Amino acid sequence: MAGEPQADCLFCKIVAGEVPATIVHETDTTVAFRDINPQAPTHVLVIPKAHHRDAAALAEAEPQVAADVLRAARTIAADEGVESTGYRVVFNTGPGAGQTVFHTHAHLLGGRGLEWPPG
Ligand code: IMP
Repeated sequence: MAGEPQADCLFCKIVAGEVPATIVHETDTTVAFRDINPQAPTHVLVIPKAHHRDAAALAEAEPQVAADVLRAARTIAADEGVESTGYRVVFNTGPGAGQTVFHTHAHLLGGRGLEWPPG
């Protein structure tokens, strides 16, 4: 069922504390942890605790939690000192866009110059 933990989902296991992660922020509905393969000095993944496959599914099922994810990203950007210099929030959606983990996650990237368009 949408939102329920999935036994085979890596990020559900991080939410449950079954897989270790460097957690930098947590709310009732979200958790954020450092990406294991950082692409910028600040590279944090912000996820809903509930399982949804991607950002579109989350927005459809629980729009208030999608807003919680964006609010958490802003708080973390401030905590990491990248809010004033600018940062990027990216939801890769679908394999063609590079999504490899099918539990909604926002990439928060900052701390270096970011090119546009992205690769
Ligand atoms: P995607 O490619 O947009 O789905 O992003 C998945 C991200 O999860 C990648 O940037 C990976 O480096 C990251 N990742 C995969 N496994 C772990 C982990 O166990 N801890 C933290 N980040 C992870």
